[in-house]
Amino acid sequence: MPPDQDAKSTPPALLAVSEAKQRILDGVGITASETVSYADALGRTLAMPVHAKASVPAFDLSAMDGYAVRSEDVKTLPARLTRCGESAAGHPFAGKVGRGEAVRIFTGAKVPDDADVIILQEDVDAASEENGITITIKSGNPAGKHIRRKGLDMEKDAPVLNAGQHLSARAISLCLSAGHTDLEVYKQPRIGILSTGDELVPPGTTPAKGQIVSSNAQYLAHFVEMNGGVPINLGIVRDEAGALAQALKADNDLDLIVTSGGASVGVHDHIAGDLDGADQSVDTAHQTRIHFWKIAMRPGKPVIFGKINNIPLLGLPGNPVSSAICAMIFLTPALAHMQGRHHQDMTFHATLASDLRDNDKRQEYLRATLTYDAAGRAIVTPANLQDSSMLSVLANADVLIMRPPFDPARRAGDQVTVLPIPRLF
Ligand code: AMP
Ligand code: MG
Repeated sequence: MPPDQDAKSTPPALLAVSEAKQRILDGVGITASETVSYADALGRTLAMPVHAKASVPAFDLSAMDGYAVRSEDVKTLPARLTRCGESAAGHPFAGKVGRGEAVRIFTGAKVPDDADVIILQEDVDAASEENGITITIKSGNPAGKHIRRKGLDMEKDAPVLNAGQHLSARAISLCLSAGHTDLEVYKQPRIGILSTGDELVPPGTTPAKGQIVSSNAQYLAHFVEMNGGVPINLGIVRDEAGALAQALKADNDLDLIVTSGGASVGVHDHIAGDLDGADQSVDTAHQTRIHFWKIAMRPGKPVIFGKINNIPLLGLPGNPVSSAICAMIFLTPALAHMQGRHHQDMTFHATLASDLRDNDKRQEYLRATLTYDAAGRAIVTPANLQDSSMLSVLANADVLIMRPPFDPARRAGDQVTVLPIPRLF
């Protein structure tokens, strides 16, 4: 049966994208935590807050190259002072700055005791870099200027990152600066990936008549990796009842299974029927088997969610674009949630380059490219062809234009909401 046609004469209500997302989040678990070294922490999620073990910086330091002096000595300018030493990064000046004295100082060096002003080197006449010479201060700064105070970045014992923080390269460098090399993070969820379809052959195999190369599984594996999970390839299964259960080996210890294809209600679609409790469960609100959802979205209407052998299973449509966009919309927040993190889509507004007709009851995700005009405005151009089988359009898109159900017709020049497609997806 074509996926758009319902079995009954009164079509059941479609499930809203937000509702489907929430049900998926409610149905997946959160992994346990483990300790990893900073070198292995990229992309992981903190399971515990991180506090600064010491103040950073640990002492007052200079933000510029110049001379460290006492403010009372530079009240009247020009002022003549005696250079008494040097403080460089990693080589602090051992003494104090006395009356009438100046310490040559460089960026990142400890400010010597009793100095409270850094005079920029361009405001000083100095004949040489020798100690003992007389230098002339031509103009000055207010006390404290160009000094980075102890604890400016973080105070000892202060919280610097919360549990649930996604560990970016920036966040890991902050942890190192705060004195941590071992980080408590959520374990990487293990995600089984299964393709279904009698027509599928693995990549690298020349398809015979009627066959196609399976591309979804590798896409999903990369997708899982980029979102912090461990993909486990469960291979390709035939369109037969019970094939799903057979493909699941007991020792896989999976946190979630993601399937592609066979998610509709055609005679060759078996995923929903193989799930735990599939026979007796009926969703009265949506008049379907409880695991089978018709979601109000385009592309990607049929999606399955349930459990098999008590492992959560997300069944995505087989069309590569539907599968990819459903992964972006549902699997991204699910993988974040499984790792103790809340995912927030980073959308923005852009100016539409061409007209769009009014939208129907389904939330729409249009593949589009993004450019900038001379004034720096983001211009978004929807692809002419939006067929859900066309990887060529998806692979060349920069963003998805997100249109809510019943969005009215839009004209070129209107503002629309766009969701960037992450670079490596
Ligand atoms: P299905 O959801 O099983 O009805 O499949 C919808 C379309 O997606 C069909 O044209 C399939 O051949 C195609 N398809 C299903 N699985 C894959 C896959 N793993 N890789 C590429 N295309 C697929
Ligand atoms: Mg199929």
